[in-house]
Amino acid sequence: MTTVLQSAGPILLSPPDVGAAEEAALLRAFRSGWIAPLGPEVDAFEAELAARCGRREAVALSSGTAALHLGLLNLGVGPGQVVLTSTLTFAATTNAIHYTGAEPVFVDADATGSMNPELLAAALSAEQARGSEVTAIVPVDLFGKVVDHAAIGAIAARAGLPVLSDAAESLGATRAGRPAPAYGVAAAVSFNGNKIMTTSGGGALLTDDAEFAARTRYLATQAKLPAAHYEHSEIGYNYRLSNLLAGLGRAQLERLEEMLERRRRWRRGYAALVAELPGVRLLGAPDGADDPAAPTRDNCWLTSVLIDPAQAGFDAAQLRLALAAEQIESRPLWKPMHAQPVFAHHRSYLDGTSDRLFATGLSLPSGSALTEGQFARVTDTITRFAERG
Ligand SMILES: *Cc1c(COP(=O)(O)O)cnc(C)c1O
Repeated sequence: MTTVLQSAGPILLSPPDVGAAEEAALLRAFRSGWIAPLGPEVDAFEAELAARCGRREAVALSSGTAALHLGLLNLGVGPGQVVLTSTLTFAATTNAIHYTGAEPVFVDADATGSMNPELLAAALSAEQARGSEVTAIVPVDLFGKVVDHAAIGAIAARAGLPVLSDAAESLGATRAGRPAPAYGVAAAVSFNGNKIMTTSGGGALLTDDAEFAARTRYLATQAKLPAAHYEHSEIGYNYRLSNLLAGLGRAQLERLEEMLERRRRWRRGYAALVAELPGVRLLGAPDGADDPAAPTRDNCWLTSVLIDPAQAGFDAAQLRLALAAEQIESRPLWKPMHAQPVFAHHRSYLDGTSDRLFATGLSLPSGSALTEGQFARVTDTITRFAERG
């Protein structure tokens, strides 16, 4: 009975999960008088975030895209150069590479959606053979699954290239016992409204290199040199995070474990559901969702299914429409960058995997604010639709 009441209305893919704690934190920041993009909440948020991510330094920024952009600039990436990156990602990764004037070159995914290390190695050889000046590798932790950093890092190290990790979707995930943003020379995380935790909009760059962090702060504040009159010898950006939003971020960070646990709970629920549905399986297994002691655990930001229409009797688009008819939001996976009109002219190293994942995949409601009643409504709708055939 209460289940029905709780579950009425639209169900979104990954809405913000905020309440009294976040409201109190925002008010605290506001009443402190620090309304600017600097202040005690920013300092504390950076310290707490760095500790949570196993990094020495965190720089709070206005978005994850800004973190990627400044990370690339800090690595010296610029016009005439090539950056190897995942094709199966959100456009922000590729946009940030474009901002620097460098050219993105795309590498296909493996069956879990992560950058395929073998194709990365092939791409690197081919690019070097054609005389490209490859200067960085930007892998993406798709939907909260950390990429194979051992393999990618080894390829990068052999070529003397830095890895800038796009961990925008993987805060809270681990691989081989290390937090996702602890990998790479630096890692970008995002606090956009739909991410694992939110500052309404925001991001951060994490690194162990104090100079890298200092230069990121400098570039993020219009490249102001320390002089009373504001001296500038370089182009800068206005990318710092507001003190108010850092307060919100601190409240979210305190709830991160609890929010992760809820997303993992939905993952386990979906795993049980698809076990009963022929032709339907989860993207990204194994995910460590059912084992708190596993050294490699996805944060389960989004749970996605892959549907084989021949076996299932329906395809991903049909399931999406059936869910939409019940006011349940679901979404195809990221359309690969090599297939985007704006990026299709760039070179790519593909084996068909990301195209196949895009054609057969669907992300399901996964947010930590989802109620048990809402989750039951999603799984009931899927079961009823699948049984109808
Ligand atoms: C969300 C996201 C970003 C960008 O983060 P914003 O904070 O929205 O700028 C970058 N890369 C990936 C893979 C993302 O999912």
